[in-house]
Amino acid sequence: MSEATGPVRLRVAPSPTGDPHVGTAYMSLFNLAFVRQQGGQFVLRVEDTDRARYRDDSEQQLYDTLSWLGLHWDEGPDKGGPFAPYRQSERLETYKPYVERLLADGHAYYCWCSTERLQEMREAQQAAKQPTGYDRLCYGKTREERAQLPGFSETPVVRMLIPDDAPLTFTDVIRGEVNAPRPDDQVILKADGFPTYHLAVVVDDYEMGITHVVRGEEWISSTPKHVLLYTWLGLPLPKFAHMPLLRNANKSKISKRKNPAARLTWFQEQGYLPEALRNFLALLGYSMPGGEEVFSFDDMVEHFDWKRVNTVGPVFDLDKLDWLNGHYIRSLSEDDLTDRLVARLQFDGLLGDEPRERDHEVVRAATPLVQTRMVRLNEAAGMIGFLLVDDHDLVVEDDALASLKDDAPAVLDAAVTALQPLADWSTAQIEASLRAALVDGLGIKPKFAFGPLRVAVTGRRVSPPLFESMEILGHASTLTRLMALRSRLG
Ligand code: GLU
Repeated sequence: MSEATGPVRLRVAPSPTGDPHVGTAYMSLFNLAFVRQQGGQFVLRVEDTDRARYRDDSEQQLYDTLSWLGLHWDEGPDKGGPFAPYRQSERLETYKPYVERLLADGHAYYCWCSTERLQEMREAQQAAKQPTGYDRLCYGKTREERAQLPGFSETPVVRMLIPDDAPLTFTDVIRGEVNAPRPDDQVILKADGFPTYHLAVVVDDYEMGITHVVRGEEWISSTPKHVLLYTWLGLPLPKFAHMPLLRNANKSKISKRKNPAARLTWFQEQGYLPEALRNFLALLGYSMPGGEEVFSFDDMVEHFDWKRVNTVGPVFDLDKLDWLNGHYIRSLSEDDLTDRLVARLQFDGLLGDEPRERDHEVVRAATPLVQTRMVRLNEAAGMIGFLLVDDHDLVVEDDALASLKDDAPAVLDAAVTALQPLADWSTAQIEASLRAALVDGLGIKPKFAFGPLRVAVTGRRVSPPLFESMEILGHASTLTRLMALRSRLG
């Protein structure tokens, strides 16, 4: 087999079957790390030959989520490139001559078996505890001969004729020699004229000059079929690398039906930073030479080596992701975090498309108060939403109300009296006068003195630091809120 020469070309080849799967980002990350290290091209190819599972909006979601993650492709359906089109449904003509050649050379044959017949055959094989697989009823028959037999369907499919001596081992860049099970006579062209994945992937990887096929380990069992197709068609073999699958703690495969974290959009909704998710996904499949847990994509590119990719299915530990996310939030500059908080509050509907200058200032002022406390950006609404709502719209939460003791009215009254005349509305002055009035004046322990004020001002039992929050909120609003709770308590 000839070796590929020249710059490396890798691809990710997702199927647009709904919300993009987190595995697509994971594959893209590893493909891209190698491409950027070697200075080659990264191709996004849309494998949309399964028309039954096709979903219209998922291609756009794919672009949006991968772009959000900073995983950028060089060629793709949206970008074009020298091997366009990059959508398999637009390449049907490309596959035809390959199928014809395989048929002419006797490596493939027509099969007219109806779905019902195939189903019965499989059930009979299972009942007899035989291995399941196509029984080659159609092999060697003309259409006329086959039409005489039961279970005939007008439109045939094309199947590969897997030889008895088909090679079942192949070399994997990550795993070395790999043994795969013997394949069935795989369908390569369906009755609807679309190729199956197996034919299309081989033809396109060849036609698009792909040098390394990096994909999930669930494709190991398909690789011998692909190797046969390459060999029969006289095409150079790419290198293969099968990444370990992402798994739940109980070792099951992460599926979109069972685990919300299988969906890439879930991570956006939860307020994870793209850099944290990238680091997390890298850590799942990779260990840095120095064992570092926090590293950037550039670090990964610099040190990338297939030998350092794990082969054991990594467990998807979201506590680790939270830890990383908190770390990345704390490492952002205040300006950067402010921008992300504003974007998040817009996403949550607390800020409009064009936030008022005052709201922007409020978020900026609140940024240092939440930076050390926040694990995910979706906490922003809860933590600083009280600063953005009008006083009369503030919702005082039930558990916050329930936390109030009998002395709450007296505390609120004393606070209003203390704060009303304050000319210098600064954190230090607010704190000093409230301490004087409540701790020294009413003799309440600091631990209890400020609870009612927090409930009045923020509507919650837990909030960012109280005096700082009051300063940001302003004199008038603070007093309005203290008095509102006071009158509510009667
Ligand atoms: N369309 C396949 C998938 O969605 C691509 C597998 C491959 O990379 O060869 O996983």
